[in-house]
Amino acid sequence: MAEPIDDFPSRPRLLLRGLLRRCAWCGDRRAYFVGWFRRQESCRNCGHGYRRGDSAFELGAITANIILTFGTILLTILVLVGLTAPDVPIATVTMVVVGVGLVGPALFYPISFTLWQAVDLWMRPPTERELAGEGDATL
Ligand SMILES: [Zn+2]
Repeated sequence: MAEPIDDFPSRPRLLLRGLLRRCAWCGDRRAYFVGWFRRQESCRNCGHGYRRGDSAFELGAITANIILTFGTILLTILVLVGLTAPDVPIATVTMVVVGVGLVGPALFYPISFTLWQAVDLWMRPPTERELAGEGDATL
């Protein structure tokens, strides 16, 4: 197994890039997406593949999407209840939360991929061999 490289973006930088829909590795804003929902296998700037030999990458991205959506729902509830307490308009809060629940997964779709890419790079730093295009993280 090849050694991980030393020249590596910091973990907060990786996560920030992922949250901003940028390639976690190079920081380019075009990353893996050519549209909001259309993605390609590798970064358009650095060529780093998001899968990295992991056939279940989408499972992690879906998990990131669920966490982002549920976090937004929780934040929405807290803000609306905090602003309207003690007379909380339950029907209005429910409608807003349902709207966030419906829009959130689509809104966070590309971010969930770049964020999961950042988490994956955090957990499994790339090797010199992977960066040279001679293999992926599992080889
Ligand atoms: Zn890149």
